[in-house]
Order: sequence, then structure tokens, then C-alpha cells
Amino acid sequence: MARIVMKFGGTSMAGTERIRSVAQRVKREVDAGNEVAVVVSAMAGETDRLVNFCREASPLHDPREYDVVVAAGEQVTSGLLAIALQALGVKARSWLGWQMPIRTDDAHAKARIEDIDTAALREAMAGGEVAVIPGFQGMGPGNRISTLGRGGSDTSAVAVAAAVKADRCDIYTDVDGVYTTDPRIVPRARKLKRVTYEEMLELASVGAKVLQTRSVGLAMKEGVRVQVLSSFDDPADAPAADTLPGTMIVGDAELGDDMERQLITGIAHDKNEAKITLTNVPDKPGAVANIFTPLADGSINVDMIIQNISHGTGSTDVTFTVPASDLARSLDLLDKAKGDIGYGEIVHDTRVAKISVVGVGMRSHAGVASAMFTALAQRGINIQAITTSEIKVSVLIHEDETELAVRVLHTAYGLDAEEAG
Ligand code: ASP
Ligand code: MG
Repeated sequence: MARIVMKFGGTSMAGTERIRSVAQRVKREVDAGNEVAVVVSAMAGETDRLVNFCREASPLHDPREYDVVVAAGEQVTSGLLAIALQALGVKARSWLGWQMPIRTDDAHAKARIEDIDTAALREAMAGGEVAVIPGFQGMGPGNRISTLGRGGSDTSAVAVAAAVKADRCDIYTDVDGVYTTDPRIVPRARKLKRVTYEEMLELASVGAKVLQTRSVGLAMKEGVRVQVLSSFDDPADAPAADTLPGTMIVGDAELGDDMERQLITGIAHDKNEAKITLTNVPDKPGAVANIFTPLADGSINVDMIIQNISHGTGSTDVTFTVPASDLARSLDLLDKAKGDIGYGEIVHDTRVAKISVVGVGMRSHAGVASAMFTALAQRGINIQAITTSEIKVSVLIHEDETELAVRVLHTAYGLDAEEAG
């Protein structure tokens, strides 16, 4: 017997038929003697629809009322799943965020969970009742409904799993695990059996969007064992979740010495970056601070940074990347700071992509970066910027070369599966 948190995303909850199928899957875990809590998303597309209503009502709206509106999608699916479970003869009830409660801070629309009161929940679960919990929502100060930011139901699931000390948090989604790279680009990408929290954080933050990044950080902090697995196999003959058919996200220790493990775990790509270059920036102390302070004050996340040395001219070019969605604001901030910074021209380019190779194996191996540069050079792919961390090397290239670069690197690091599939 185990205590399990199961989480189902929007595509798994989209419509009565799918919700019935989810109920079957939950029933299987209950029949196997497990204590179960289920965290659900709103039906696919529903949150977007609700967000739009708020925008239509007023472009500038009170985030506390926005939360009341957008939390509604999960209220619907949690009630429907409880009904579907009851129809199968499974004891179940919904627990809305304010009922448990899941307490959050007051950052409405992007709140953080502070505390979950699980006493009543645990009692119900121990009594064989399935707890159905709407993801994404909580209760802020003054007992106001809050939400955790888009994609937040992953974070709800991990937080509940931590709070009830679950043996596992199974995240059911429309893919059957985490792959070495995007299988749409590389059909021979392999499903990973295990990936570490840190690797998953790097993969998520560079564009492999399986889980909300925040949920992975929380799982790492709380030591929650997370499995990503498919909700689309027929629930009647899907492999049992405790045989770990998906991808487990675990700590370094649990990774052990997996002989099959490659040096590189995965390759991610991200086309949502924009490159900015400031020319003729004075080469003197404080110049770089003058560039990045206004961006930081504007909460703009700068990623890659390159500064060339000057060649006796007393000035140099500085290149960096920001999220493409923040480009217009970045250009505006830099324009306003032009006097302080004292640059020549500002040039930007959104036709770029960031390609990253990730793996804890590179901590103990040299040559990962040079292998990357060589493989790209052999295909004539030009590198515009580079960053590294202990377990990641990223390069910025022309957007049109994304697919080619991912394929070349997947092969270069020996990640291709034996057979297509
Ligand atoms: N329904 C919310 C969203 O679409 C939360 C989630 O599904 O994770 O962002
Ligand atoms: Mg999601």
C-alpha cells in the first residue's frame, strides 16, 4: 500500500468521456489498496477562455477578481471527477483550495503556496475516500481565492504530495514521459527512465515544457518523487503506475550508477529568445551595470551575455538575450537609459534559437562543450553566443537551423535509439 498523488492535465480532463477514463485509472489505484489524492486541471482551453472574459470585462482588472474567475475551471473538473468516481462506486469528494485550505501569499494571479492544512484530508484518505483537489487555486490573505500562475496545477500536485508525504506524485499528461529531445524533431529520441531534478529544471527552463518549472523546483526542495506518464493509454490495459512506465524525476542519489545512462541526458531548444546588441559601449567600470540595472528593475530576465574586449578604441559591443516577449519593453528601457550607458547603436534579432545540452554526467567529464561546437561546425552552423552551467551548455544560433542542430547533436552524443520509435 502506498500513498499516491495523481495529477491530470487539461487534455486528460477535456470532456466527460476523458473524465470517466481518468476515474477508471484512479479506481485502479484505489483497488490496489493505495491511499489516493487526485489533483486536476481545468478542461483544456478553459482557463484561456476565462482569462479572455476578464480581459473583455476590462483590460485593467483587479487580480483578486481575476483569480475568482480563472479558478472556476478547476472547480468544475474537480466536482465532475468526484461524480465520475462515485458512479464507479469509489468514495470521493472534492476539496476546493479554500476548504482545505491551501494558503498562499497575496501575489494574486501568481501566488506562492505557504502552507497546506492536510489534517482533514489525511483523515478522509485514510478512511478510503479519494480526495479530489482542484489544481492552480488556493486561498490568500483575507480568505480571498488565489491562483498560482499558468500551468500551476503541477505545482499544486507536488505541494499536496509533499504535504501528505506521498510515496509518489504521478503526473498524467499527453506525453508518456520525458524524452532525450523533442520527438517531433528526432523520431529516434528515447524516453528517459530517470532524470534528476536539476536536469529537469534545466530542460524545462530551456523549452522542454512538460512540467511547470516551479513544480520541479518544489519537488527538489521537498524531495518529492515525481513520475511523468501518459493518460492516453486505455486505462484497462495501461501498465500499472507502480511499475514506473513513465519517467521518474528523482534526486542524484536515486540515480545511482545507471550503466545505460549517457553522458548527456537531453537536448532542448527554445525559440522564444531575442538577441540585443549594444555597439560602442564605453569600456570602463560600471558600463555593464548601467545596461543591466534598468533591465533588472523592469524584472526582465537576461540570459546569455557576451562582452568583447575593446581593441584600443575604448569601447566594445555587448550582446545578450532576453525573452522575446520582453523585447519591446527591453528596447524601451535601454533607449531611456541611453544617456547613462552611452552606447552607439542598438540592434536586435528575434530570429534566434537557443540549443542546450544537459546532463549531470558532464560534471565529471571534459570535452562536452567542444564536442558540441565541433558537431555544429561540421554542419556549418554558426554560434552567436554561448553560456554554460555545471550541467548545461547552451548556444545561440539562427532560428532556421534549430531542427538541424538538435538532430546533429542528438546523434553526436549517441542519444539516438536503436530503432525508430
Ligand atoms: N488551468 C490552469 C492553466 O491552464 C492551470 C493548469 O492547468 O496547470 O494554466
Ligand atoms: Mg500543464
